[in-house]
Amino acid sequence: MLDNLFADLPNRLNTGILILDKNFNILMWNRFLEVHANKSDKQVIGKSIFTIFPELPRKWFERKLSSVIQLKNQTFCGWEQRHHLFELSHSRPITTDSDFMAQNCTFLPIEVEGEVERICILIEDVTDVCHYQTQLNKALNELALSNRIDGLTQAFNRKHWEECLASEFSRATRYKQELALVMLDLDQFKLLNDTYGHQGGDKVLIETTEVINELLRMGDLFGRYGGEEFAVILPNTELTGAYDVAERIRKTIENNAIEYQGKNINVTVSIGIAVMNEYDTRYEDIISRADIALYKAKNSGRNQVCVAKERSVS
Ligand code: GH3
Ligand code: MG
Ligand code: MG
Repeated sequence: MLDNLFADLPNRLNTGILILDKNFNILMWNRFLEVHANKSDKQVIGKSIFTIFPELPRKWFERKLSSVIQLKNQTFCGWEQRHHLFELSHSRPITTDSDFMAQNCTFLPIEVEGEVERICILIEDVTDVCHYQTQLNKALNELALSNRIDGLTQAFNRKHWEECLASEFSRATRYKQELALVMLDLDQFKLLNDTYGHQGGDKVLIETTEVINELLRMGDLFGRYGGEEFAVILPNTELTGAYDVAERIRKTIENNAIEYQGKNINVTVSIGIAVMNEYDTRYEDIISRADIALYKAKNSGRNQVCVAKERSVS
């Protein structure tokens, strides 16, 4: 009675049990595998594992098993390393990214008189673990991204942009590289809001961001510094390069009327630029010099680019 129960135990488990001989032929195949591979034990016993599962990464699998045989140690392959080894169907009532069961596989040596003659492979269905972990990772990535991105314009937010500047500043200092900063402030934006409403103003901020993004190179770091104020870090860029970028941005914005509710909104921007020099001891120094240059651009009539002095106080 008890013997019968134990004999049937492998078929009652919700885990795949597969026993192979040293030539990778199947010696045992439990009901879990019958169900999920849709093959009876009669169809598979005595056959090579590579015939039944042609998708198996053969070289990897042979190496794995020979290490179990030689070291007489059990080994493991989790779903995070390989989503699945065997193409088995899963029976979870959830939508998953894969048609196949995610698996944790354990390889156990079976010794006969001190020699490993057989290998038992336990196959655990971890489709739901894999699914929820993947969802969680996705949510965490989105959260990390939303911590860095400004919700309205999708540019970097100020906090993240300043972190970028801090690290670019120390990199440029360490490797004696150039670094330029461009600060931009939209002109008469309060008036624009008063004329077209806050939503019109928002549309201008969104489109202006897109226009600027298209003019930048990979590696330039663009952020929304404040309400209608933006900033760009230009790594490895000297004054003439930074001036060209700033002037291109200024002209493009000036010539790019933004359509809103059937009307064209004309926008201009004032720009201050500063390139890093030996007097800048902290990243805030370069911001404040670019800010003074921006203030000068405003005071000189707006819609222009001004270059910062070498030192903010002389
Ligand atoms: P200046 O040319 O001297 O820069 O004038 P300005 O009117 O642009 O400057 P000011 O700093 O007086 O006004 C900035 C305006 O930007 C005021 C504020 O209501 C508006 N603003 C800030 N953030 C947003 C936003 O997210 N959306 C909209 N629509 N307006 C914003
Ligand atoms: Mg402004
Ligand atoms: Mg402003």
